[in-house]
This record gives sequence, C-alpha cells and structure tokens, in this order.
Amino acid sequence: MTEHAVQSLDTRSRPLRDLRISVTDRCNFRCTYCMPKEVFNSDYQFTSRDQLLSFEEISRVARIFADLGVRKIRLTGGEPLLRKNLAGLIERLAAIDTIEDVSLTTNGVLLTQERAVELKDAGLKRITISLDTLDEATFRAISDVDVGPGPVLQAIEHAQAAGLAPIKINMVVKKGCNEDSILPMARLFHGSGKIVRFIEYMDVGHTNHWNLGDVYTATQILDRLREEFDLEPAVPNYTGEVAKRWRYRDGGGELGIIASVTQPFCQDCTRARLSAEGKLYTCLFATQGRDLRHLLREGAGDKYISEVVRMVWAKRDDRYSETRASETSILPKIEMSYIGG
Ligand code: SAM
Ligand code: SF4
Ligand code: SF4
Repeated sequence: MTEHAVQSLDTRSRPLRDLRISVTDRCNFRCTYCMPKEVFNSDYQFTSRDQLLSFEEISRVARIFADLGVRKIRLTGGEPLLRKNLAGLIERLAAIDTIEDVSLTTNGVLLTQERAVELKDAGLKRITISLDTLDEATFRAISDVDVGPGPVLQAIEHAQAAGLAPIKINMVVKKGCNEDSILPMARLFHGSGKIVRFIEYMDVGHTNHWNLGDVYTATQILDRLREEFDLEPAVPNYTGEVAKRWRYRDGGGELGIIASVTQPFCQDCTRARLSAEGKLYTCLFATQGRDLRHLLREGAGDKYISEVVRMVWAKRDDRYSETRASETSILPKIEMSYIGG
C-alpha cells in the first residue's frame, strides 16, 4: 500500500476489497442462462478490439484499486481464456505489492496443460472452473455448443497437475434443467480436494428470461445433497464469503452453496467490477457504470482516476439481491458476460 492508501467505505460502511475484471465479453459457449444463442448471434455487437482495455490499462487501473484497498482480483468474462497472453496480464497483476490473490473463472475448454502451467508460473494461485453437469446431453443443452463435459473434466486435471489450488467447480443449478446432476457432481468430487459450489440461478442481465420459479433454492440443494451425504456447516473463511461452506462429516472435504437469490449477502459485499471496455460497476445488477477508459485514454493522472473511483465507491448504496422481486427482475440490467461473472 502506498502512503496515499485510504480505506474506502461505501454508504453502508462496506470496504472496497475485491475487483472482478472482465477481460472480454465474448465466449465460446452460449449457456442458455447467460448468453442465449438467439440474442448472442452474429448480429450481436460485442466490444471491438480497440474498445477493449489493453493489459497495460487494466494493470494501471488495478494498481489504483489496490491503493484504495482492493486485495483480491478475479479475472472473468465472457470467457477469459479467449484473450491471448492472459498469463502476461496475470504476471502484471500478481506483481502489485498489496494484491494478495489473483484468480480466474473459466469454462475450462481452452485450458490446455501448457496453458495451465503458464498461468500458474505467471502468478495465478487458484482457479474456478464452471461445470453444470456430468451428463453429456444436459451439458450440450446448457452450453448450447458442440462440446460435452469431457474437455472440462480434462481442464480440471490440467489445473491440478499445474498445482493450482484450491480448484473450485461452479455449478449453476436451474430447476427442471440440471438438479439431477447435484448428487453425481458431489459424488465425483467428494474426497478429491476440489470444492463444488452449487449456485442458485440468478436474474443477471435480461436475455435469459429468468423467473423465480426456475430457481432451485439453496434449501432444496442441501436437501438433495443430504439424501446421500452427512454434512455439517463449516465456519466462513472470511467475512463476506459468498459461498456458505459445508463439510462432509466423513472427511471427504467440503462444498459450497451460493444462495444469491434466497439468502442474499449484500451487507458484506465488497466487490467492484470492471467491464472489458473499462466501465466500473459497483453491483452485478447495476444498470449504469462509470467509464474509466476515457479517463485512461485522455491523459488523466492516477490521482484523479483514484479520486473518481473513491467517489463512486463512497456513493455506493447497492443491495439489489436484498430487494429483489419479480418487478425488479424485469428491469433492464447489464449482461453478466459483459460485466463479468
Ligand atoms: N465463462 C466463464 C465461466 O463460465 O466460468 C467466466 C464467466 S461466467 C459469467 C462466471 C460464472 O457465472 C460462471 O460460473 C457461470 O456459471 C455463472 N453464471 C452465469 N450466468 C449465471 C446466472 N444466470 N446465474 C448464476 N450464475 C451464473
Ligand atoms: Fe460463457 Fe461463462 Fe456465460 Fe457460459 S457462463 S456463456 S461459459 S460466459
Ligand atoms: Fe453485491 Fe449487488 Fe450482489 Fe448485493 S446484489 S451481493 S450488492 S453484487
């Protein structure tokens, strides 16, 4: 932390601690709950190359955020591995003194063994790989591309061989779609050291036609798991941890349940998000972002940009998930692939 470092608190006294950076809004999947094919087709206007923040620009913004209190950075998207030389960016971010943790969320398909080693060597510590089912047909129906779960399982092996740890597996559970995959997923990863995180389906964006009836709730997820496993709650690793931790009583490790819809955790939310084109958002469900790219490209100094970010955070009052209702779910919102999941 430099001598100018200050503790940035929002209107609800929440510090700025985490930064999620979307490095691209493009993806090689078309998950129906995130980037449905009928919208994200060849007519869709993705961010053009010159509008994307360069790695140099991202690193500069990250340093400014680190001075304001950010300690953890997660790279996401879209599919972050679509960005060439991502390891180069990780290296720059990991070199920032006060950044304690750089992580990555990916669908895994582009994670070759070589790339996993390259990312690890660059300073990536841990990784989250998304996998919603082990069932071939269900996987294809969700991702809506001609890929099955095989390459994702392979990516998990590559991550492990490269020494990335812990490996977390994100499984979004959508009612009527993949709840029957909860137990097979738990069985596969039980005792493996990998942590499956079961996530309630959220109303991010507005293209997935979310409705409350599609949410398979945290309680239902837990009940399903308890049909087969004896689980006990585990203490959170830190304040604001989004996943509620559960431990297998037989020593088979742990799992997490992220109940963003039915048990919101806004009061501890310390996350800011930077879109691929450099807009700052203070909530996953925000409708407006603050453009930092034009400041970066028009010669603003670090001090000035820092003051802009500090002011945006100081005014932050977000708590969307605590006020969610059927009426709010149809409000226009930024797509998750753009804002960064
Ligand atoms: N493409 C990468 C991936 O899928 O891991 C990173 C970006 S993705 C937007 C980040 C995470 O958000 C993934 O684990 C994905 O499953 C999750 N996600 C996307 N849409 C969601 C939704 N509607 N509800 C809950 N989680 C969602
Ligand atoms: Fe792509 Fe990830 Fe969204 Fe699926 S969840 S469409 S893999 S960005
Ligand atoms: Fe944070 Fe917004 Fe999610 Fe609440 S709804 S936890 S404020 S990102």
